[in-house]
Amino acid sequence: MRYSILAFFFLVAFPVQAQAKVNIFACEPEWGALAQEIGGEAVDVYTASTAAQNVHFLRAKPGLLSAMRQADLVFCNGAALEAGWLPVLLQKAGGPDVQPGKPGHLLAADHVKKLDVPARIDRSMGDVHPDGNPHILLNPRNIGIIAEALADRLKTIDAANRQNYDNRLNSFLRRWKPLTDEWERLGASLRGMKVVVYHTNWAYLINWLALESTATLEPKPGIPPTASHLKAVLTAVEGHDVKAILVAPFENPEAAEWLAGKSGIPVIRLPYTVGGSDKAGDLEGLFSETIRLLREASP
Ligand SMILES: [Zn+2]
Repeated sequence: MRYSILAFFFLVAFPVQAQAKVNIFACEPEWGALAQEIGGEAVDVYTASTAAQNVHFLRAKPGLLSAMRQADLVFCNGAALEAGWLPVLLQKAGGPDVQPGKPGHLLAADHVKKLDVPARIDRSMGDVHPDGNPHILLNPRNIGIIAEALADRLKTIDAANRQNYDNRLNSFLRRWKPLTDEWERLGASLRGMKVVVYHTNWAYLINWLALESTATLEPKPGIPPTASHLKAVLTAVEGHDVKAILVAPFENPEAAEWLAGKSGIPVIRLPYTVGGSDKAGDLEGLFSETIRLLREASP
């Protein structure tokens, strides 16, 4: 009896030590979702942004600072996507083990081949991405590669749970690979489908499914649409059988709607990331829903 009271005392007094979960600070919803998939019960995931936010322009708010203070692993997109706020957070609130180059710092984009790496950069090109296009998430093959990198990293910083991470990675990949094959089978009919995009954040989806980007509503990356640019876009799309104008939840739809009104091309709001629509509640839903909406626009 005395023993069980003592045991009870320890459970109540030291619940955190008993669990010793890895605190993961994920910058975007897709990486938060992947961290939960691979970490399971062994991790606590904090996700710094929602699908309604454009992560190019997040601000280092107090809530983010306190989450960063707790972090054992910073799991972000990289390729300068978070250049405006992650370095500030790391400097103000990040511990020594989560700084760039340390095991507690994992950037998804470091593990996949990037599109649109510029040969040269100057200011006239707009807010261009110097390390290549950072919006790597919308290719499920990238997600599989990054899942492996994440499991490796978790095994390094939490060796006691190696088996958990291996098991969860394997079960994720056993599910993910046939799903990817199925999406590619369904997506085959979309090959050559012409689309207009707001920003180059659809580049990996376009590349993966061999769609064709006819025009971009932003005159340059990060520069909002102008009247003269939109007129040029209208001329470029007329008579070219463009099927859809792709817009993310956080993008201002005004320019897309103007173009839709003038050209008759429908605007499609794709979820873009996990949580971007009701049916995109997890990574699987994100891709299933994206493929479904594209097929609906290009029957
Ligand atoms: Zn971008």
